[in-house]
Amino acid sequence: MNTYDLLVIGSGPAGQRAAIAGVKKGKRVALAETRNVVGGVCINTGTIPSKTLREAVLHFSGYNYRSTYGLNYRVKEKISMDDLTFRVQHVIKTEIEVIQAQLSRNGVEVLNGTASFQDSHTVKITGPAGMSPVQAEHIVIAVGTKPAASTKVSINGRNIINSDQILELQELPKTLLVVGGGVIGVEYTCMFAALGIRVVLIEKRPTLLEFADHEIVEALSYHLRDSRVTMRLNEEVESVEEQEDGTVVANLESKKKVSGGALLYAVGRSGNIDELNLTAAGIEADSRGRIPVDKDYRTKTPNIFAVGDVIGFPSLASVSMEQGRIAVARIFGDETVRSHAEAYPYGIYTIPEISFIGKTEEQLTEEDVPYEVGVAYYREIARGQISGDTTGRLKLIFHRETRAILGVHIIGEGATELVHIGQAVMVLNGTIDYFVDTVFNYPTLAECYKAAAFNGINRLARFD
Ligand SMILES: Cc1cc2nc3c(=O)[nH]c(=O)nc-3n(C[C@H](O)[C@H](O)[C@H](O)COP(=O)(O)OP(=O)(O)OC[C@H]3O[C@@H](n4cnc5c(N)ncnc54)[C@H](O)[C@@H]3O)c2cc1C
Repeated sequence: MNTYDLLVIGSGPAGQRAAIAGVKKGKRVALAETRNVVGGVCINTGTIPSKTLREAVLHFSGYNYRSTYGLNYRVKEKISMDDLTFRVQHVIKTEIEVIQAQLSRNGVEVLNGTASFQDSHTVKITGPAGMSPVQAEHIVIAVGTKPAASTKVSINGRNIINSDQILELQELPKTLLVVGGGVIGVEYTCMFAALGIRVVLIEKRPTLLEFADHEIVEALSYHLRDSRVTMRLNEEVESVEEQEDGTVVANLESKKKVSGGALLYAVGRSGNIDELNLTAAGIEADSRGRIPVDKDYRTKTPNIFAVGDVIGFPSLASVSMEQGRIAVARIFGDETVRSHAEAYPYGIYTIPEISFIGKTEEQLTEEDVPYEVGVAYYREIARGQISGDTTGRLKLIFHRETRAILGVHIIGEGATELVHIGQAVMVLNGTIDYFVDTVFNYPTLAECYKAAAFNGINRLARFD
């Protein structure tokens, strides 16, 4: 039987980083992966395909140029699914090759097969080459998630699909029903709406993206309505029917009916634990397949750790990578590796994009923290006018007394990049004064930081 110092299960961002961190510690590492390619949901069906698709949508729809050349500007009049997926396949293939090369360069042994525990140190790997048990002193579970199933919505992979099946759509529907106002549902809503497709977004809560700053979500809602998206909030789907003409009808609990050419079901994801036989390892997952861990990502069984989406919130590729790196440091007794968890950024690739770090106004109000806000609008910044994004805004939240930065919330072009300036200042314990005293390149969107800082400092004196 092959024996390893470390066995990692799953080759998504969390597993990759865990495996490479193990090798860097001079350990013998194996990585088990069910699929015949590495990369996980991140590369194959989630992050990378959706972001590449978004880029194609922005290009072909001419979205970024509409404020310059007019609302009817298009790069291509009739956009097809093939136009959109052409580049996606290329990027997926290249990313897989990059990861494969990294793993092999670092000497990680990739085992192609499904891992299943026999006991806390022995794992059976069943793959094309048959079944082989392996032993490992330490094990990291990084199996990710799959779209959650619903008894009310039968996914058929044709016109009733989940987010893993978007690329399989044969043609673009004229209207699309999206169930789920979380990140995945809202991102796809924006993409299809930018293509001119009528989208009905159904969400059972009273607001979209409930963990984001309310003002920013309101701004996004304005854009969605402007793109002819119908938002059905506080509504739950009771059943879904496929009609003879190929359209789909969603019956809502409120007795309303909505119909469309296709339905995307994007309500939650659950841990990929079905094949793992966790009980043999002494581990129990919750009802959504999430594995409980402590602050070092250790499960109830001391030699087994779990990282990435399978442990739950925030379920981001960026954070999953970091969890893999930290867990392996702790496994091998390294306490020096640390991470600024209080300033993990959120990037939401809606159109326009949203990004934030730190606290929201709602959280600070709840915690009785005396804060003030400074806002800059892209339309007041030369770069906003040049690039044609006149609706973006950047909001700084800072402590009224210490002037420390407590949060940065941005909606608009470049938000997911811009947020890192605020992140650096926040992590290095900077105050609002940093932005006042600093010169930014002109004309750039980064100037928003300075404008927002002036606005916030002026408000300190006004108490409004
Ligand atoms: C549509 C969509 C868009 C997203 N966009 C973003 C984004 O813009 N930014 C961002 O940061 N995050 C985004 N995410 C989230 C991101 O994809 C996940 O956070 C990330 O992939 C989680 O990484 P992971 O390593 O935990 O799991 P995964 O990437 O899911 O990888 C887990 C791997 O484990 C394998 N596996 C499962 N069970 C076994 C087993 N028993 N044996 C062997 N192998 C097994 C699976 O085949 C899979 O390859 C998005 C997700 C989706 C679905």
